[in-house]
Amino acid sequence: MADGDFELQDLYRDVLIDYYRDATYKGEIQNPDLSAHGANPTCGDEIKLTVRKEGDVIKEVRFSGCGCVISQASSTMMCEAVEGKTVDHARELIAAFRKMMIENGPVSELPEDIGETEALEGVRKFPIRVKCAILAWITFRQGLDENLKGRASAQYTEVS
Ligand code: ZN
Repeated sequence: MADGDFELQDLYRDVLIDYYRDATYKGEIQNPDLSAHGANPTCGDEIKLTVRKEGDVIKEVRFSGCGCVISQASSTMMCEAVEGKTVDHARELIAAFRKMMIENGPVSELPEDIGETEALEGVRKFPIRVKCAILAWITFRQGLDENLKGRASAQYTEVS
């Protein structure tokens, strides 16, 4: 693990490691309908999301870039959660995840679609790491917001 932060090791539960290693959603879609770049300078995480839409449905979403275990695992979780969903549904999932991570919402209230994100609950104790966990989700939301305005790309940088 490129992450030297050993005191966080106990947070990296098996499920996070599995998601970190899962390459299912890694890559870039050629000629995407939407792309969004996200950066979390505090940790050095960077992500590029590319999305193929059909009408209001997110048909395919891939991510590339590099980052810590938390940001990468969370990116995979997000892609898995939103692929095949409508934009509105995806927005609800992003809002629910954000509520859990940022507002300390109970994991019992997480929608089933993103139930596995409860593995990130322990990260809430480390505000700096919350930025890693939410990067992909907020980047995607930013992309959807720009898309509504007719734009095909978006840029999001976390404030430290
Ligand atoms: Zn990170």
